[in-house]
Amino acid sequence: MTDAERHQALEVIAAEVRACTDCRLHQGRTRAVPGEGDPDTEVVFVGEGPGFNEDRLGRPFVGRAGDLLVKLLAAIGWHREEVFITNIVKCRPPDNRDPEPDEIAACSKYLRRQLEILDPAVVVTLGRHSMARFMPGVRISQAHGTVRPVDPATGARSALVFAMYHPAAALRTPAIERESFDDIRGVPAALVDARRRREAASKEVQQASEPAVPLLVESEPSESTPVSAPPSPLGADDATPQLTLF
Ligand code: SF4
Repeated sequence: MTDAERHQALEVIAAEVRACTDCRLHQGRTRAVPGEGDPDTEVVFVGEGPGFNEDRLGRPFVGRAGDLLVKLLAAIGWHREEVFITNIVKCRPPDNRDPEPDEIAACSKYLRRQLEILDPAVVVTLGRHSMARFMPGVRISQAHGTVRPVDPATGARSALVFAMYHPAAALRTPAIERESFDDIRGVPAALVDARRRREAASKEVQQASEPAVPLLVESEPSESTPVSAPPSPLGADDATPQLTLF
């Protein structure tokens, strides 16, 4: 899929989201918030739901939490325009309450389709509701800053998920803000790890589709790709804090 085709496919989803009445959250919204960012990105950030400012503007993470997300990205040399940012539910829950399970279920089709189109290498979850979709059964106090493979059923067919606290929680609690700045420094290493896994997987597919190798030709040893290995710490050979995305 080309960049333009991806952009167009995301716009189709955005138009459906803006007209959606599939759960009660449509009743109180000013504007739905489908998400935005670079259609050719390798990294998708998934928050929980739009807040007051997002509901007014129809854009994700534009209030104080958005400002903090921009600062977190700046800490690793990234910009919000280089990633894609969206939420688990696309319409604002009243009074910023948590989204209900049936609302999350009703809205999940849009996130799944966005991930199918974007095919990210890394999904960064912001907050426990987003994390629960990609890392079910864990507590955010233990899972933040950790990484694991994504279930392809989520729409991200070959990705790692990296869990972080929601920036709104970081704004409320200085200790969580400090931890969030520590956590995000692990995202570039997760991206390096994810790229390596995707490359290895694509080589395997390529080799499987090639004709049998003649007996006299030695095949290259295959690269080991442990499933649950944590990302390389920054400072390792191939992970840098100023990682260029593309
Ligand atoms: S939250 Fe999602 S499912 Fe519910 S009305 Fe909005 S777009 Fe539709």
